[in-house]
Amino acid sequence: MSAAAMVVHAGSFHEKAECQGLAHFCEHMIFMGSKKYPDENELDSFLSRNSGSTNAFTELEYTNYHFDVAPDKFREGLDIWAQFFIDPLMKEDSVEREVTAVHSEFEMAKTDDYCRKLQIIQEAVMKKDHPQSGFFWGNRKSLWDDPKTIKKTAYDMLHDWYPRNYSSSWMKLVIQFSPHSLDEQQKWVEEVFSLVPSRNLQKALDEPDWSLGSAFKGQNVSKLIKYFPTADGHTVDIMWSLPSQKEFFRVKPLHFYGWLIGHEGKGSILSYLKQKDWAHEIYAGNSGQACEMNKYHSELSIQFRLTDAGLENWDNVLAVVFSYLKMLETLSEEDQLRIFNEIKKIEAINWATKEDKKAMQNCIDAAESMIDFKDSKRWLDGDDLIFDYDSQMLRGILNHMTAKNCTVILSSKNYESCVDIVEEWMGGKYSIDDLSSETIESWANAPVLSELFVPSSNKYLAEDIKVKEDEPSL
Ligand SMILES: [Zn+2]
Repeated sequence: MSAAAMVVHAGSFHEKAECQGLAHFCEHMIFMGSKKYPDENELDSFLSRNSGSTNAFTELEYTNYHFDVAPDKFREGLDIWAQFFIDPLMKEDSVEREVTAVHSEFEMAKTDDYCRKLQIIQEAVMKKDHPQSGFFWGNRKSLWDDPKTIKKTAYDMLHDWYPRNYSSSWMKLVIQFSPHSLDEQQKWVEEVFSLVPSRNLQKALDEPDWSLGSAFKGQNVSKLIKYFPTADGHTVDIMWSLPSQKEFFRVKPLHFYGWLIGHEGKGSILSYLKQKDWAHEIYAGNSGQACEMNKYHSELSIQFRLTDAGLENWDNVLAVVFSYLKMLETLSEEDQLRIFNEIKKIEAINWATKEDKKAMQNCIDAAESMIDFKDSKRWLDGDDLIFDYDSQMLRGILNHMTAKNCTVILSSKNYESCVDIVEEWMGGKYSIDDLSSETIESWANAPVLSELFVPSSNKYLAEDIKVKEDEPSL
């Protein structure tokens, strides 16, 4: 298949309080016909006739549009698709239908515990009016009703916002297309995409104020949230909001700690908790999702799936985490370097042996990397590989992971009777309190347990992953 992806460096962080979800709504409306191909279904029907598909998603800092199609139809498809960035119609009579489409996506997400918890964190522990604490999905209320409070419609908001935030100056295009020569492909792309307007802008007019820092900063830390979930099972999450680590991709310090904390072998947190029969699963690190890794902050979080006894002992479960962190503070330089190099090697092996992705996924990933990495050499591997060791940077992360500086979320149906707040957008039920000073103190003074230690050297890591040539037959 041939494919293309376009990333526009404007997303949910760029929208206004009077019309939340506008970036997502814009992503929907762009597909509704263009001046050159006014029929709303032109691209869809063209792609379905030619084994293709198209999609898009809105992130916090950017919006990613993509499609694929049979190679002999690529040039034609590219022309129809490119018109969405050149001259989209975004007609008034499509507005209500697309608000409904966005609303139904919201309805599907609304009962998901992961989405609800995110929205609760935004409401409960982030500063109001900070771009990070917005309602990014959009629904009928935010898109259709809220603009009326300032005597505007969703249509007005869209046509005001779009030219302020969409310009060729901050779009990145990737195509994957054979069998034509690179020169030929470049000529086609230039012919079509040189028409995308720049509007003489160097940056989006609604570019967020990046100097604000994390929405968690300086307030509401050390909170305990109890959440009443839709799914069965008990979990505890502990999270820290750190300064953005996006630019430190060469070291990936959060990956280092996620790997160690989430390790499940001898000496690990999980093996200790399993022996106590308190927890049976762990996830640790930074998922790379936009809400956890953006220009404002980077999150390091740990989630345990707890047993009934584990839920009763949630504070003791987290005391084990602090004990482990204390052990890591005393890790020798030699051990830290050894483990770092092993993780680096694992990622290099994963990278070298991974299966080929579909053409469209390649384009999606590469277009995002073009935004994230200034160095073009890293556009294909910057997300996956680890490049440099930086002892100070690694040790600096531990300074943020303190008992005074965390948010804890307990999730269990046992909390039905004690949750007294209903989150505004998704309706998740929760309560919020300060973590008690006794709890914070007991975590800060957690003794280093002799059962906790870092993994020993992994002698099974391949030194050479080249495929062996056949032995000559005798
Ligand atoms: Zn959508």
